[in-house]
Amino acid sequence: MNTINYWNYPTEIYSGSGAIAELLPFCQLQGYQHILIVTDQGITKLGHVSSLYAALVAAGKVVTVFDQVESNPSTDNVALGVKTYAEHPQDVIIALGGGSVLDAAKAISLVAADPNGLENFDWNVAFHRYPTLSSFPKLAITPLIMVPTTAGTGSELSREAVITNAVDHVKHVITHQGLLAKAVFLDPDLTVALPAHLTAATGVDALTHHLEAYFSPLNHPMSSGIALEGIRLIAQHLPLAVAEPTNLVARENMLVASAMAAVAFQKGLGGVHALAHALGGRYKKHHGLLNAILLPYVLKANAATIADKVAPVNAVLGLSGSTLDHLLDWVLTFRQQLSIPHSLAEIGIESVEGALIGQHAAADTSSADTNPIAFTAEEYEAIFLHAVAGVLV
Ligand SMILES: [Zn+2]
Repeated sequence: MNTINYWNYPTEIYSGSGAIAELLPFCQLQGYQHILIVTDQGITKLGHVSSLYAALVAAGKVVTVFDQVESNPSTDNVALGVKTYAEHPQDVIIALGGGSVLDAAKAISLVAADPNGLENFDWNVAFHRYPTLSSFPKLAITPLIMVPTTAGTGSELSREAVITNAVDHVKHVITHQGLLAKAVFLDPDLTVALPAHLTAATGVDALTHHLEAYFSPLNHPMSSGIALEGIRLIAQHLPLAVAEPTNLVARENMLVASAMAAVAFQKGLGGVHALAHALGGRYKKHHGLLNAILLPYVLKANAATIADKVAPVNAVLGLSGSTLDHLLDWVLTFRQQLSIPHSLAEIGIESVEGALIGQHAAADTSSADTNPIAFTAEEYEAIFLHAVAGVLV
């Protein structure tokens, strides 16, 4: 029989096939009456929005839908969502979709509470003003319920959102305590329609979160432990989720591993994400795919500082050796098994803007600051050029 798990760490989490059915009772319990659903056209076409909408309306809720979220949401796209939000007073926002939808919903709730929220709580600015997340000014942010339909970003369980500036196309990480979801529903039924290539790319995004968090130099043993278990779950279940799209056990384990990654990366991310953010803003490529391609090149560039931390990772992967080369071999084989391209050139990214990409990556303090080595813009450029050419040195 199917089991719905209930966890309260650090957000309430309902996990299991059919977990979406627990959403209405949760809203009833919380007394939510006016509800904004934030989603995108793709999810709407799959029918997930209409069934959720019908259930909420049948229970007497006043429901508004914003279904215009774009992939890699921009500040303009967020402004459009805020306009819909402002049409009615809202008790809660339900975000139903992939990472772009979850991030857009967070940004909408932040801007609704503070019209200058995207600038005020841009990571690069906010941590100069406030020493810790708990010292950020309190805001009346509308509660968020997160229902991910991909297993990758972990946005459902993080305080961060990535929004692209519509003017200069630079991705900005925003953060605020109030963006942590009130509740998360991890329902593998909602992910079975995800095509194999997106299942693979989003899954390797989650793997990258765990690996970058594990290798972050910050001291956070709780996150390190979660990262190791997340790596193990992904190694076991991602190939199955790609090969057998309706395998609900694999799909659920991927959703769980993806959410766990957001807990792991409280310890920080690293150079893979610094470069992926720079490239994603510039070329509008899929975040997970960029990470999946970049991962081995950044691991190799970090070799001098991570080589002696690799053994526990290799142990959970069941590898026969304990060196970084053993881990790199596994990453390359795993990527190949998932049909991930080896170079950025294979997805149409050329080397011409190398210097600019290097500068943007080095300036992305949300990720670059916790890379094991503080790479300069020139060093990021060199890694980028290797990843374009597919040369692992
Ligand atoms: Zn990511």
